[in-house]
Amino acid sequence: MPRQAVYLDNHATTKPDPRVISAMTPYFTEIYGNAASVSHRFGWDAAEAVDRAREQVAAGLGADPKEIVFTSGATEANNLAIKGALPFLRRKGDHIVTTAVEHKSVLDVVERLGRETEWKITVVPCDETGRVDVETIAQALRPETALVSVITANNEVGTINPIREIGALCHGRGVVFHTDATQAVGKLVLDVQADHIDLLSLSSHKIYGPKGIGALYVRRRDPQVRIKPLFDGGGHERGLRSGTPAVPLIVGLGEAIELALKDRAEDLPRIRGLRDRLETGIRERVRDVRLNGHPTDRLDGNLNLSFSYVDGEALMMAMRDVAVSSGAACTSAEPEPSHVLRAMGLDEDMARASLRFGVGRFNTVEEIDHAIEVVAKAAATLRVHSAAWTGGGVSEKDEQRPS
Ligand code: PMP
Repeated sequence: MPRQAVYLDNHATTKPDPRVISAMTPYFTEIYGNAASVSHRFGWDAAEAVDRAREQVAAGLGADPKEIVFTSGATEANNLAIKGALPFLRRKGDHIVTTAVEHKSVLDVVERLGRETEWKITVVPCDETGRVDVETIAQALRPETALVSVITANNEVGTINPIREIGALCHGRGVVFHTDATQAVGKLVLDVQADHIDLLSLSSHKIYGPKGIGALYVRRRDPQVRIKPLFDGGGHERGLRSGTPAVPLIVGLGEAIELALKDRAEDLPRIRGLRDRLETGIRERVRDVRLNGHPTDRLDGNLNLSFSYVDGEALMMAMRDVAVSSGAACTSAEPEPSHVLRAMGLDEDMARASLRFGVGRFNTVEEIDHAIEVVAKAAATLRVHSAAWTGGGVSEKDEQRPS
């Protein structure tokens, strides 16, 4: 029987947890009412499930349930946060600060605003680990800065930003602070009060929940942050996101967050152990491998490596039954190398020579060991054919060892 493919692309998406699927199933089969129907039990039961999920999401962030708006995912949450908040911020000024390591669903939004509107945009750089420090943000702030948006943890290299310090800085200057916490929720301890967060985006499918559902946290007091909806309709979600609530998906998101928090103490050290085993194993077998991202302040499951003299795309293709990404999955339809790696100072060749491994809840030791084997063989084969590499000679370390 052919071996099952090994899934090591848990930043792109995750396998839904069977416990999440079980929680969702009754909302497809029996409790199918519209949560906005107020005149019968079908509607009440659905609304009750949505309320419970809203509490679960809020609890995961130290927020009030009234501050949670369900969206179709983090792309929508990022759009709603930025485009929704700006109309209320013009009194403060016309300047937005964001970073070079944001996901495209933030970067493309602000770039469009910069092109098509009066808003002025500053995109601050990161250091060579992908981290944005507080000083850099402080230097970019102007009296007319109205909004700062900084990703909590990067989706390509896993680097964690000093969100609490940046939040405190923004609040000290009366600036609204948005963070895209899509990769961080369920993995890092986040608290919207202690972290001074005004707007926070998250997505269910990164935490073993279903695709097509996410949420935006919108601060209601100290200070109250107002947002304008992106589209008009039935006035659901307190008028901020019209559209019949996707009850099964919302239930799945609530359950996924609750499970992530409950299992975190057990899950994360195990995931980190597997990630470290993967790195050690690859380094033992393959020469000239460079780690991209922060050596310690990094998401537990993240391992982004550049393999000198090898094209990441070709390496990925040669690894067939091990699923990883070269660059971010969300941008891999585009031919150009990752904007995050380039912002970290990697030249085009090194950026192109990178692979992103994302270890997750369901990976096993056997899978990691198999992946090491596959990566080592693929890298050795490609390097034999690489002119740049053979110029330097093929190392013993890169040749297949007898099994
Ligand atoms: N932000 C980050 C950091 C992400 O990793 C992703 C998913 N790749 C998104 C936003 C978009 O999330 P969604 O797929 O829920 O729209």
